[in-house]
Amino acid sequence: MGGDFRTRRRVLWTAGVVVLAVAASAVTWAVRRPDERAVTSSVPALVTPTVAATPSEARMVAQVDALLKARAAAVLGGKLPAFLGQLDPGNAKLRARHQQVFGNLRKIGLRTLTYRREAGWVPEKQAQHGANAYAFRIMMLVQVNGIDTAARYVPVGYTFAERNGRWLLVDDDDLAAEADRGKTREPWDLGPLEVVRGPGVLVIVPPSERANGRRLLREARIATPAVRAATRRAQAGILIVALGDGRSFAAEWETGGHPAAAVAVQNYTPINAEATQFKVNGSRVVIHPSERSDADRFLLAHEFTHAALSPLGHGAPTWLVEGFAEYVEMELTADEGHTQWLADHRRAIRREGLPKLKVLPIDGVFHGAYDEQSYGVSWLIVEHLVTTYGLPRVNAFYAELAKSPDDPTARDQALAKHFKTTDAALVAAVKE
Ligand SMILES: [Zn+2]
Repeated sequence: MGGDFRTRRRVLWTAGVVVLAVAASAVTWAVRRPDERAVTSSVPALVTPTVAATPSEARMVAQVDALLKARAAAVLGGKLPAFLGQLDPGNAKLRARHQQVFGNLRKIGLRTLTYRREAGWVPEKQAQHGANAYAFRIMMLVQVNGIDTAARYVPVGYTFAERNGRWLLVDDDDLAAEADRGKTREPWDLGPLEVVRGPGVLVIVPPSERANGRRLLREARIATPAVRAATRRAQAGILIVALGDGRSFAAEWETGGHPAAAVAVQNYTPINAEATQFKVNGSRVVIHPSERSDADRFLLAHEFTHAALSPLGHGAPTWLVEGFAEYVEMELTADEGHTQWLADHRRAIRREGLPKLKVLPIDGVFHGAYDEQSYGVSWLIVEHLVTTYGLPRVNAFYAELAKSPDDPTARDQALAKHFKTTDAALVAAVKE
C-alpha cells in the first residue's frame, strides 16, 4: 500500500451539525431543519406566516396534495404514464428530466416515498408560468429499500399551475436559490446512473462504471466488520454515492482547506407530525468525484464509523470523532498486514504532530495547531485510551459525550467519570 491513499482525503464529520443542532432529549436530538444554513441565516420562507386560506386557495392546496400523492404512488408502482401525465405537456425539458428521475428512483428501489407540502409555507406566485401558478416547498421523504430504516428528508421545490382546469407540475427550480434547498443534488437528479447492490450496501455509479461499483461493494463489505468490531454498532444498510458529477459533492465539504475525499452525510427523519423537528437516522457516504476510483476499504471504514456513531448525537469533540474513525481505519490497516506503513505513519506523527500537542484538539484547534497531523494526533489519543482502558469504556465515553453539550465542562466531567483523568493528564500520557 502506497502512502497516497491518505494524501487528499479527510473528512468532515458532517457539514454543519455544530451550528444546526438544538438538543431535544437524551435519546434523540433534533434540529429545527436539516440544513445548517436555514437555522443561522435569514431564510424568509421559514418565517412567512401562514395566512387563512380562501376557498380557492383551499381547493388549490387540495389538488396539489392529491397530485403529490399520485406522483409518489406512480413511482412506487412503476406507472410511468400516470407519472408523466402530471407534468406540463408543453415543457419537454421538464418531462425528460423527470422521466429520468422516475427511472433512477425505480432503479434504486424504494421502500417508501412521500411528498408533503411544508407546513407554514405560503405558496409563492410564479407569474412566469401563467396566472394561476405557485411554487411550493415540498418535503420528499424517501426510504431506499434494504438500506434505510426510515425515510430521509430531501427538500424540493415544485411549481404547480392550473391548465384547463387541471393542476400540473410545471417547474422544479423556482425555489432553487433558497438557502436551505440543499447545496448538493441528489444522485437521482443527475442524469443516468447505475446501481450495484449487495447485502446492506447500495452503490450508485455512472452507467459506464459498474466495475467500480462492484469494487466499492467489495471494499465496503470488508470495512463493515472492522467498524462493527470497534463501535459495536453498524448501520443496517448504507448508500454509497460515487458519481463523476461534481454536483453530487458540496463545495463546503472540505477539511483543512482541501476537499474531503468522502463525507458521511447524515440522513434526517422528521420526528413529529408537523415535520418541524428531525433526528439523525443514519448517514450516506458521498465520495468526491475525483476519488471515486481510489476510495478503498480504509476510507470507507473511516466514513462508516462516522455513520455508525452519528445517531448518538453531535456533542463529541472533534479529536474523539475523528480519532475514533482513524482508530478503526488503522486497526483495519493493521489487520491487513500493512505493519511497516503503520509504523512509519506512527513515527511521523510522533515526530511532527505530538510535540505540538498542548490540549485535546477540539474544533478550531484541530486543523489550526496540527494541520495535516490533526487526524493522526487524534488517532494516537484514541488508541491510547483503548489500550489503557479498553474499547467498552471508550465507547461508553463516546456515547455520553455525543449526547452532551459540546462544552468544556461536559468533556472534563466525562474524562473524570470514565477514565479518572483530565485533559492535561491525558495529553501528557499520550506524549509519553
Ligand atoms: Zn472523518
